[in-house]
Amino acid sequence: MVIVGAGCAGLACARALVDAGEQPVVLDKARGVGGRTATRRVDGQPIDHGVIFYHGSHPAFLEALERVDTATRLDGWPETLVGEGRACLPRAFTPGERRLAFAEGVIAFPKTLARGLELRLRTQLRSLVVGEHDFELETGDGAKITTDSLVLALPAEQTRSLVETLPATRELDSVRAVLQMLTTEPCLTVIAIYPLETPVPDWDVMYPDQSEIVMLASHDSRKRIEKQFHVFVLQCSARFSRRHMNDEPSMWLDTVLRETGRLLGVWAQKPSLTQAHRWRFGRANAFPLSGPLLVGLPGGQALGLAGEMFDSALGVEAAYLSGRALAKRILETG
Ligand SMILES: Cc1cc2nc3c(=O)[nH]c(=O)nc-3n(C[C@H](O)[C@H](O)[C@H](O)COP(=O)(O)OP(=O)(O)OC[C@H]3O[C@@H](n4cnc5c(N)ncnc54)[C@H](O)[C@@H]3O)c2cc1C
Repeated sequence: MVIVGAGCAGLACARALVDAGEQPVVLDKARGVGGRTATRRVDGQPIDHGVIFYHGSHPAFLEALERVDTATRLDGWPETLVGEGRACLPRAFTPGERRLAFAEGVIAFPKTLARGLELRLRTQLRSLVVGEHDFELETGDGAKITTDSLVLALPAEQTRSLVETLPATRELDSVRAVLQMLTTEPCLTVIAIYPLETPVPDWDVMYPDQSEIVMLASHDSRKRIEKQFHVFVLQCSARFSRRHMNDEPSMWLDTVLRETGRLLGVWAQKPSLTQAHRWRFGRANAFPLSGPLLVGLPGGQALGLAGEMFDSALGVEAAYLSGRALAKRILETG
């Protein structure tokens, strides 16, 4: 069995299969696990430049977060919010929802899920063919892999581009029709670093109410036990991100920093260091499905789809739950 995508959906699926005695192989094109649950290090200081905190209410997801034993839990983070803007995942702030982060970075969770799994990193699935009884996978380095059971745990657009060349069959046409409905919004992010003597504010997250450019500012260094500098991660609005997705950061970075200066104070306009990142398939912007898909093909092959859009919770909780639910269905159908 092959699982493509080592984000929280693919890892949760693989974890549940391994716990049940299966031996899936997980491929990911990136150098490490986690996908959008990403922590970068600058001079050793962790910076969460994708997911900024976990939130959820499903017991299985909360238990999985409890099993992270390599990092310091920051229960309740973010605690101090400012701004009247709409949270990207409004559910995060509803009653009964738990929120948390990790002082060593959000990456601690996918790394825990990945323990003991057979991973092939820096391995991109480039194309997919349906053989008589198998799928034939071609990876970026030209290697071929065959499997009769394949899970794609990728953003919807990336799954769509892989399945669109597969033959027209009733099952695959239905998969393509479902994928047409699932779309994501891009998100440009900027890591802005300031010296420790900078007079920074004491909130955790800002949701600006009147900005066409910045939709969220995360005071990332507030999560760190020891820090060498103050760090803010700025997430750009979907509209701004869409407009500049293919532009070099030099074309839009100053605009974001000027806006950050207007929102946070003039000190914020001139960080000592910046790093920009493009999340081309950032966040779900369509209604999600209520569960993962598992289809059987006439040759006996099984194709499963999971990811944040295959559970109504959205966010990492949805990714995790969809992967786990898919594993359960794979095990039930033998
Ligand atoms: C800026 C930003 C902030 C966010 N903040 C939060 C937050 O605070 N809380 C929250 O709950 N959610 C947040 N989200 C949403 C959250 O990131 C996603 O819901 C969740 O991480 C999706 O997990 P996934 O496993 O479905 O996909 P991903 O994490 O995207 O994993 C997909 C994996 O597939 C790999 N891949 C793609 N194509 C191929 C290929 N052809 N071959 C091999 N590998 C491939 C990718 O490298 C990636 O590792 C945020 C998203 C963004 C962009």
